[in-house]
Amino acid sequence: MTTPSQHTPTPAPPAPSDFIRDIVAAHVAEGRYPRIHTRFPPEPNGYLHIGHAKSICLNFGIAREFGGVCNLRMDDTNPAKEDVEYVDSIMADVNWLIDGWAGDRLGMKPLGATPQAIESNGRKDYFLPPVVGQGGGAKLEPFYASDYFDEIYEYAVALIEKGRAYVCDLSPQDTDSYRGAPDRPGKESPWRERGIAESLDLFRRMKAGEFPDGARTLRAKIDMTAPNVWMRDPVLYRIRHTEHHHTGAKWTIYPMYDFAHCLSDYLEGITHSICTLEFEVHRPLYDWILESLALPRPLPHQYEFARLSLAFTVMSKRKLLQLVNDKVVTGWDDPRMPTISGLRRRGVTPEALRHFAYNIGITKYNGITDLAVLEHAIREDLNRRAWRRLAVLRPLKVVLTNYPEDKTEELDAVNNPEDPAAGSRRIPFGRALYIDADDFMETPPPKYFRLRPGGEVRLKYAYIIKCDEVVKDAAGKIIELRCTADLDSKAGGATAGRKIKGAIHWVSAAHAIDAEVRLYDRLFTVAEPDAAGDFKEHLNPDSLEVLTAKCEPALREAKPELRYQFERLAYFALDPASAPGKPVFNRTITLRDTWAREKQKG
Ligand code: ATP
Ligand code: MG
Repeated sequence: MTTPSQHTPTPAPPAPSDFIRDIVAAHVAEGRYPRIHTRFPPEPNGYLHIGHAKSICLNFGIAREFGGVCNLRMDDTNPAKEDVEYVDSIMADVNWLIDGWAGDRLGMKPLGATPQAIESNGRKDYFLPPVVGQGGGAKLEPFYASDYFDEIYEYAVALIEKGRAYVCDLSPQDTDSYRGAPDRPGKESPWRERGIAESLDLFRRMKAGEFPDGARTLRAKIDMTAPNVWMRDPVLYRIRHTEHHHTGAKWTIYPMYDFAHCLSDYLEGITHSICTLEFEVHRPLYDWILESLALPRPLPHQYEFARLSLAFTVMSKRKLLQLVNDKVVTGWDDPRMPTISGLRRRGVTPEALRHFAYNIGITKYNGITDLAVLEHAIREDLNRRAWRRLAVLRPLKVVLTNYPEDKTEELDAVNNPEDPAAGSRRIPFGRALYIDADDFMETPPPKYFRLRPGGEVRLKYAYIIKCDEVVKDAAGKIIELRCTADLDSKAGGATAGRKIKGAIHWVSAAHAIDAEVRLYDRLFTVAEPDAAGDFKEHLNPDSLEVLTAKCEPALREAKPELRYQFERLAYFALDPASAPGKPVFNRTITLRDTWAREKQKG
């Protein structure tokens, strides 16, 4: 049997327009660059989160819309916190998010390839054109900023030779205090006027590992009175006797982000270097470094947009790592995490994430995005895609006293009313059933349209039933409802058209399969958990509830790549770690926004 496929009828929103795309479009119109070249440069110090998804969708979206390429680059200049586990997860998450959409725009390089100084048109080009996509049989890997450490070192030497950088012996604390503050000029380092030859010699010896961590730095010689503190002789290199996940023990000095980033962009032929707003103040330094080296044109340029902040969650990798380390969650891919891997495991599709990224738009104003915007994109996607199934989360036994003991019927039901191509399945029906305990009340309030003593309700796809008797155990707990079915009320029957207000879901007790169901909720109880104090004080103690559900037998064939709507309940996805015969379903999202209803009540 072939795996049934859920095609993706969700129409993609039109390509957005925003101030960055306007700039790119103008550059394309004037023919400024031979090709538009963006990059996505994560630091491999954690798993990617939904904020990164915004950046991925922007950078790959631009490459896709303007016939360009987007390099995947590990921004790995800080050896201490980085790890190959993170490199692998980043690769998997980026591929998952862009596959079938911008996968053919992915700039990678042949496995193990190192920078070659190819002089072409008077500039160093690195793997231009880069290997696009993953086809062609060759093993590919992402670009690494650390692959450019030799080049970046040479650029540093060139800056010293031009008198634009010097080795400084101030301690880290003094370097900090000499910098001053935005309202107070900095103080020049006593080593600022050190001779070029001496700086060159010391820098070489820093590289040779002669000095301990923190003993010296290489600094740009710019202006200690600049209003922008980033221009006050920023540190370009620091000493770190630490092994690096990609370069091993080769280096004992590492370039700072600001020095490595613009040069990595330049070496890869990036045209538009897009980052979040907090880097706006770094832009003059980005330009100063490239200009000071008098590099052949064209130079890359930096553009900034507002980062995504999502309500009811934290986004910084440092805080997410804390949740993992403190075992608040089961791992980076816990379905409650705002990570791409967590959202994937929860059942969110790449289309839903991309539509979300497009819906929120790209602006210059930081703000907090309402969770409802994400949830809307997820529900819209799953409503079109999910196969409907019957499952009972809190089983209450129902016995139909007028239904023959040995009889089983098979009722027809479509897989997805939104998608005729999804076909149908048969649901077994018998004398003993389970309904959800929530769908019965012994003494209901007014306007309760589900089952009550003496009341009637329709069983979806089946009969109207009436509750005749409530059976309780010695402790007074309801253990069974004894009901009668209107045996003419099935579709096509004489009383099929009888108006009944409530319709509830059910499963046949004799045919139901058990499944573990994990009901996830928000990880935090407040919209801005990291606004003040310790964000972990706002953890939602009820963010996970585990139940054993009774499910219609078609769910025995559930596939992790498919999505399901348990009718009247929520959308679910099979957990990829489910053992055979022991399905685990993760609740992706409820059918409606239950929090909004609670707010109205309160
Ligand atoms: P965090 O602060 O969450 O640890 P980061 O900025 O240190 O994230 P990087 O790995 O350096 O994470 O980010 C890679 C790219 O993703 C950068 O270009 C960064 O600007 C972008 N990015 C990171 N977080 C967000 C966000 N919340 N919204 C949009 N883009 C983001
Ligand atoms: Mg960072």
